Amino acid sequence: MAMSEVFDVLVIGAGPGGTQAAVSAAHQMRHVLLLDASKVSRRRGRAFWSKTVKIEDAPVFAGITGAQFAKALREWTEAQPVRSIERGGEERVAGIRRADGFALDLERLDNGSFQLTYATEPLSRDRQVGTTTALGRTVVVASGFEDGWPDIETNNSAARMYRKYQMVYRYAGNSRGWHLCIRCDGHLHVDEHLAIVGAGDYIFDVVQGAQDFTDRITVLTNGRPHGMSPPVRAALGERGVALEEGQIEAHIGQGLNLLGFRMADGRELYFDGFFVDEGLKANDEFLHRFDVAHSDDGLLRCSDDHEVLDSSGEPIPGMWAAGDIVAGERNLIASAFASGQDAGLEASDSLRRWAAPTDVGIGRLPADDD
Ligand SMILES: Cc1cc2nc3c(=O)[nH]c(=O)nc-3n(C[C@H](O)[C@H](O)[C@H](O)COP(=O)(O)OP(=O)(O)OC[C@H]3O[C@@H](n4cnc5c(N)ncnc54)[C@H](O)[C@@H]3O)c2cc1C
Repeated sequence: MAMSEVFDVLVIGAGPGGTQAAVSAAHQMRHVLLLDASKVSRRRGRAFWSKTVKIEDAPVFAGITGAQFAKALREWTEAQPVRSIERGGEERVAGIRRADGFALDLERLDNGSFQLTYATEPLSRDRQVGTTTALGRTVVVASGFEDGWPDIETNNSAARMYRKYQMVYRYAGNSRGWHLCIRCDGHLHVDEHLAIVGAGDYIFDVVQGAQDFTDRITVLTNGRPHGMSPPVRAALGERGVALEEGQIEAHIGQGLNLLGFRMADGRELYFDGFFVDEGLKANDEFLHRFDVAHSDDGLLRCSDDHEVLDSSGEPIPGMWAAGDIVAGERNLIASAFASGQDAGLEASDSLRRWAAPTDVGIGRLPADDD
């Protein structure tokens, strides 16, 4: 990629949030680089892991699996190909260029624009990998997060069959395997016995959400003290939620189905559905040069317009965020599309040559007494 090429918008991450941001900006005649790590890393986007559970509640795509959804997003960007346009006697470039790469570093240049460095091949501890750079006038961060995972045996001492299916047990999104999202997959387990793995007050959200589907719930802390505050522990007790603090040693499975757990004390516990919430890790290591503000769970604090905020609460010029990586939003596909559209349009609008006069209230909603 030629260094002299300056994109209007660099979008990092091509899940629903980033894809929508790229499409919305390109639709306003912006030249967009849409960078995605799914071809060069295990970061495939969260929806990708919905392997056999069909996504039912995303706009338009109802009944689609994760891999099909990722393909549909990719095809959608093809409707905005890179092209030359003439605008006011000037030649410009519009449309989306896709690149497969893992964002490593984002730097602000003296002229205020951004330089993005990304790996173009899988990262390796043993050898230096190829990198390239791209320049952009604005950035939309839509790289999502990775889910934490319980430390449960999937390999060494497991029987051959479990080894064969270890990927199924390790990753969520199978109708009879692990799930990560009670809102997404709770409907598969109406009136069934759910195992919920996690600890601390953190787990309360999942348990509370599970009440829409069943009253048969067991929280498993996997060997840790439950860590819940007295009111949360009492609330779960009142609702008849069982608590199991023993160490889980291994999965018990049959073919593609996860059936239960073998505990360290030898007991075998069986359930109908398995949910986990062990926290998350935001995919924002490439922002290390910026003083970005994080929420308690490590996500990016943003303004109502999805500007990324710094630690003093001020917007970082030229930087927006969309999707799961934004603190305080629902971690669902429709919300990612919505914030992606907002971030993409805000980034695009910031590049307009002239703005509305500030003193006449254009664009302002009428006040009650207007
Ligand atoms: C198993 C499972 C099932 C789900 N089911 C549903 C459902 O039924 N309904 C629903 O509404 N929601 C569901 N969700 C939630 C939904 O998938 C997410 O809310 C949504 O995908 C978030 O979109 P996003 O664009 O913010 O991030 P993601 O979809 O996670 O995409 C992030 C993208 O960023 C890329 N990336 C990460 N780091 C880098 C980097 N350093 N450089 C370049 N690219 C990078 C990744 O490759 C990825 O493509 C489910 C989630 C899971 C895990």
